[in-house]
Amino acid sequence: MAKVLLVLFPDPVDGYPQFPRDDARDTIPALPDYPNGHTLPSPEGTDFVPGQLLGSVSGELGLRAYLEGAGRELVVTSDKEGEGSVFDRELVDADVIISQPFWPAYLTPERLAKAKNLKLAVTAGIGSDHVDLDTANALGITVAEVTYSNSIAVAEHAVMQILVLVRDFVRQHEISVDGGWNIADAVERSYDVEGLDVGIFAAGRIGRAVAERLAPFGVRLHYTDRHRLPAEYEEQYGLTFHESIEDLVRHIDVLTVHAPLTEQTRGLLNDELLATMRRGSYIVNPARGAIADQDAVVRALDSGQLAGYAGDVWDPQPAPADHPWRSMAHNAMTTHTSGASLPSQAKYAAGTREILEDWFADRPIRPEYLIVEGGHYAGTGAHSYAQQEVAAV
Ligand code: NAD
Repeated sequence: MAKVLLVLFPDPVDGYPQFPRDDARDTIPALPDYPNGHTLPSPEGTDFVPGQLLGSVSGELGLRAYLEGAGRELVVTSDKEGEGSVFDRELVDADVIISQPFWPAYLTPERLAKAKNLKLAVTAGIGSDHVDLDTANALGITVAEVTYSNSIAVAEHAVMQILVLVRDFVRQHEISVDGGWNIADAVERSYDVEGLDVGIFAAGRIGRAVAERLAPFGVRLHYTDRHRLPAEYEEQYGLTFHESIEDLVRHIDVLTVHAPLTEQTRGLLNDELLATMRRGSYIVNPARGAIADQDAVVRALDSGQLAGYAGDVWDPQPAPADHPWRSMAHNAMTTHTSGASLPSQAKYAAGTREILEDWFADRPIRPEYLIVEGGHYAGTGAHSYAQQEVAAV
């Protein structure tokens, strides 16, 4: 009997909510498709109501009835840290392991070596850097993720955090909550986004969605990516291409980061790079925490080289209570939530089910969902993660 191990974030502290709930929306919009004609997940069925909390332990990504009905074993846990964890104990005979980047089940080389039956690792969401992809390649393990499932949600979060930083929203909100009316305190670091130079590091699905949403703000848009966008697209959104991130950061006031975490991007936002930015620049990073050098960011905020840093990704996750980014100056951090909105959960739960249906029926997994297959990068993985450049799927 195939065993599926599902590692999910814990339920709300007050317990798993009733659905529909009486203090929030009870429907989410039904979208026809993703942008640019990319098709939504198309499983044969789903056992959840879109808008329900699916990503926590009791939500089970809506997979239990389907998996058990097909005679598979399902183990669900949030206990993922350390050798005695349920995750560590259960992975030894799991055929499939699924986790979300918000609560990543880190599949290190050591864990992959212990998971003797593992054939498929699914990221319910986007970004599979919590799986050691070189080892997955070496062991012939397939890695798949639900491409596009939360790209627009992350783009919205990035635009929100750019506005939050530049306008200095957090401080203004705190003054309001605290009963104050000190306008001068509230506006002494408050600017307009209009007229700024905004740089996008990596113009994939999220980076392009950010550009499309920011263009009407009257900003000048810049980007770099190892794949240059078509000239008509650059013209439509007024995008200036830069050959490298080093060149990009010299020309901008706001950097928004949307590249995957790879050996090329790890630690890229370091002291040297930050020192070349315009003084008082802002950085928003909802890509991966480890793309930034944690201490370099704190130093740049302390010195005023950066005027603000926001994002929702940390290294590791969950971040410890004393992580310096929780308390550093002028931060507007959130925990990893940008891609975990309820509509996103509905999409990546359906996409996970589609991947499982195809996997168990021996049908090919959609190329846009594939990161690693048959010992090499495949599909989206070849375009976004492989060292050599491969066209998009
Ligand atoms: P995508 O695959 O559509 O785009 C990635 C882009 O990065 C591609 O255009 C690729 O060419 C570019 N790239 C890769 N390496 C590069 C390098 N060294 N230099 C320049 N460009 C490079 O992916 P996406 O859907 O836009 O997602 C991007 C990343 O955002 C994911 O890998 C993931 O880490 C992160 N993400 C975060 C959340 C969240 O909840 N915070 C959700 C989804 C994705």
